[in-house]
Amino acid sequence: MRQHWFVPALVVSFAVYGGAAQAAKRGKKPAAAATPKATAVASPALVAGTSGAATVAAASPTPEAKPTPHAKPPAAKVLAPEAGAAPAAPTITLSPPATVNGGASLARIDGLVAGDVVTVSFAGETLPVTASTGYATTIVGVDLNVDPGKYTVTARVRRGRSTLVKSTELRVTDAKYEVQKLTLPKEKVSEFDAPTLARIEKEAKDLAALWPQWDADRRWSGKFIKPLPGEWSELFGGRRILNGELRSPHAGIDQRGKEGEPIKSINAGRVVYTGDQFFTGNVTVVDHGQGVFSMYCHQSKILVKVGDSVRKGETIGLVGHTGRATGPHLHWGVRIAGARVDPQKLLALDLPETPGAPAMVEDTAGDALPTEALPPALATSGGAQSASSTTAAKP
Ligand SMILES: [Zn+2]
Repeated sequence: MRQHWFVPALVVSFAVYGGAAQAAKRGKKPAAAATPKATAVASPALVAGTSGAATVAAASPTPEAKPTPHAKPPAAKVLAPEAGAAPAAPTITLSPPATVNGGASLARIDGLVAGDVVTVSFAGETLPVTASTGYATTIVGVDLNVDPGKYTVTARVRRGRSTLVKSTELRVTDAKYEVQKLTLPKEKVSEFDAPTLARIEKEAKDLAALWPQWDADRRWSGKFIKPLPGEWSELFGGRRILNGELRSPHAGIDQRGKEGEPIKSINAGRVVYTGDQFFTGNVTVVDHGQGVFSMYCHQSKILVKVGDSVRKGETIGLVGHTGRATGPHLHWGVRIAGARVDPQKLLALDLPETPGAPAMVEDTAGDALPTEALPPALATSGGAQSASSTTAAKP
């Protein structure tokens, strides 16, 4: 019997997987015009041994380590699993097995044994995977521009010298997002001057550059939560046809909120972007690891900085109406390996806890909120303000 041993930081590189790439394949243009060509990094998951070995991290556990593109993956020293039990046959299941364009599903690979190396691909692209003892998971995100149909999700399990392949189908139906046709006199339609257009383009590129650079470590743990208690004021995916011209879809969701109300991170993660953008105003992007990002817009104040680790439920900013917003509200969005996903679909997934992940911040009033950051509006505003918060800019 040989002993088994492996390196925890097994990294492979692969072609970028993103909403842009996903949509481009289907001959459609995603909202962010830039098609990232960068190389993203994900780790195939190693399965922890059952004979006392600790759960093996899928990648370097260094929390502040930047996701680094690797041209050459380090060789993985994966030795044979222990003899004895009959080798399990891997299986792959999707929960839910059917979703919509803009939807998400949790892929779970069972029947793994110590030493297995797992990768999962969806529509031909490789997704980051996290393994726990005996099983591995990844979230499959379907971009809102993906055509309805059946898509193959494939798990490849490298076991010793052989590769076991298991596939299943993800059924994608049409979400039938709302389309509004509007006709407005030309003078009522805003036209941007060249410097503003250049700014908008640069800001879109800055954001698009984030999506392929996800942290290979899974930072999220368990279910995602709403960043605010408020009701939805505008749902995901709606489109407007203005004077015959199709506008960008609503790639996030709007939630009612009062000026200065605390915004909570929807899961644990690391802040990878803060900025003041033309459309989205004060915006923060949190990388939850393994391709999952969240983005919070129109904030009156950003309370975190790039590089900060945040816990689930931690206050990261305050509701506002900066950028192109007519009233205070929170526009927030989700990317999964680049795909633009309906936040409600992510919230609906029943997700496993990540071993060793930071605990959720208790939801107590005003927690972690520096009192000096509270604008007077929070103390004085009643329901009146939120009534005007339904109109959003459409970044
Ligand atoms: Zn919005």
